[in-house]
Amino acid sequence: MPRTMPSSISNRKVAKSAPPVKPAAFRSALLGWYDAHARVLPWRARGGKTADPYHVWLSEVMLQQTTVQAVIPYFGKFVDKWPRVQNLAAAQDDEVMHAWAGLGYYARARNLLKCARVVAETHSGVFPDTVDTLKSLPGIGDYTAAAVAAIAFNRVETVIDGNVDRVVSRWFAIETPLPDSKPEIRAQAKTLFEHKGSDRPGDFAQAMMDLGATICIPQNPRCDLCPVSKGCQGRAKGIAAELPRRKPKAAQPRRAGYVYWIENERGEILFETRPGRGLLGGMVGLPTSDWVGWPAGQRKWPEIDHKGGHISAMKIADDNSMKSDLKIRHTFTHFDLELRGVLAKVKTRSFKITDDQFWVPATEITALGLPTVFRKFTRLMDGT
Ligand code: SF4
Repeated sequence: MPRTMPSSISNRKVAKSAPPVKPAAFRSALLGWYDAHARVLPWRARGGKTADPYHVWLSEVMLQQTTVQAVIPYFGKFVDKWPRVQNLAAAQDDEVMHAWAGLGYYARARNLLKCARVVAETHSGVFPDTVDTLKSLPGIGDYTAAAVAAIAFNRVETVIDGNVDRVVSRWFAIETPLPDSKPEIRAQAKTLFEHKGSDRPGDFAQAMMDLGATICIPQNPRCDLCPVSKGCQGRAKGIAAELPRRKPKAAQPRRAGYVYWIENERGEILFETRPGRGLLGGMVGLPTSDWVGWPAGQRKWPEIDHKGGHISAMKIADDNSMKSDLKIRHTFTHFDLELRGVLAKVKTRSFKITDDQFWVPATEITALGLPTVFRKFTRLMDGT
């Protein structure tokens, strides 16, 4: 009599696995695909040329937390204005912050300038070509150092950005959630990036990034078009789209504050240069109160002193013309912010401003290069 399988086992989906593919075959399939389908990007060298280290470094810093499409116009603006790292090193801080405005994460711009100055002064304007020396420069961490070393100097390095995290997690079917899976992803990625006898390390790194950006995309990976689908364990197990798994994120903390739109008798608006250090350091913005914690679940608007923040010398709160029905929300890396607008008309003669504050005609606000959080509010006010 034939033995029957218990139903609990017979109904279970049996995980398949793909036949193994050697790293050399993976590399060759991916590089062949890259030769035909590489994205054309302004910082990339074409036709067998080596990329300019300045361009690679600049693009990698800009691409941190920012999309390729958003970076392209900024990259063009920077290399037009400062064609070499020495030109950037000689730029004024506020010129660079102004050119960076809108790209966000402004600490990157401050480190960019610091790094350019170290390269110009300490390395005679020549970028170092090893990971260790690159990592000694301001604002260059493990990822950027590996990317510059591989792409600009053709060094064999394991370069892992978000796209590569995804490709490797899927190809090796790594089910441990991020960030705990990082060491496993790195170890597996190394077998591909640093395979013995690896050639074209710069192209391989960029090919992995392009695969993640165009084929192995976050939702609905396009496995039918994938040059390395043979051997992909995530695809074979039917779990590719679920990978990489992530630990649930804790809710972002919230902060709240006032933003002041102060107009004088000439129709000019008050702006200020923010302190050099801290969030949005050195950027031009509207004056604000302090940004105070606003506990999750609390509906009531918190108590906020109008005399805090960078407007301490003013007595806006006492001005009868203030209104507070306009608001904007903005998400920073570590918190969500809601700013409520306070509008006031003042007379310059009796209204004291600080050394960092200045009046700007309404028609010239767009030329200020404001960070996005302030641009959101000026758009509410003047529709630009
Ligand atoms: S087969 Fe699919 S899941 Fe696997 S690497 Fe290619 S696109 Fe990604």
